[in-house]
Amino acid sequence: MEVFRPSLIPPCTLTKFHSDDYINFLRMITPDNMGDYVRQLQRFNVGEDCPVFDGLFEFCQIYTSGSIGGAVRLNEKASDIVINWSGGLHHAKKSEASGFCYVNDCVLAILELLKCHQRVLYIDIDIHHVSIISFVCLVSFLILS
Ligand SMILES: [Zn+2]
Repeated sequence: MEVFRPSLIPPCTLTKFHSDDYINFLRMITPDNMGDYVRQLQRFNVGEDCPVFDGLFEFCQIYTSGSIGGAVRLNEKASDIVINWSGGLHHAKKSEASGFCYVNDCVLAILELLKCHQRVLYIDIDIHHVSIISFVCLVSFLILS
């Protein structure tokens, strides 16, 4: 087993699936300023199941970098199998957090894999079913691109 540290993805990579305004919101919201953004917290479903905490955006960027970095290694045939133990936050929707998932690293990793592969088999073993909205958006993206 090899452990590798993928490069940190730039924030714009997250908008390959998520909306710009949602990612911009995640970048600027902090526990100190959240009182000024009550409407946006509601709009983006951030607050209860998906709390604001120090380093929230960095957390999203790091776990998503692991999933995309793993997909890049598969694309480059540098690895046959990759695992991101911090990834799998599949409940996040295009413009909404859900179930402690802020950024959908699964969708973003699949998009990375689709750069080199015609099809990707996605198996989800979470007890909750995956957000159908995220995957409808992904299918729409694939049909339109
Ligand atoms: Zn779940």
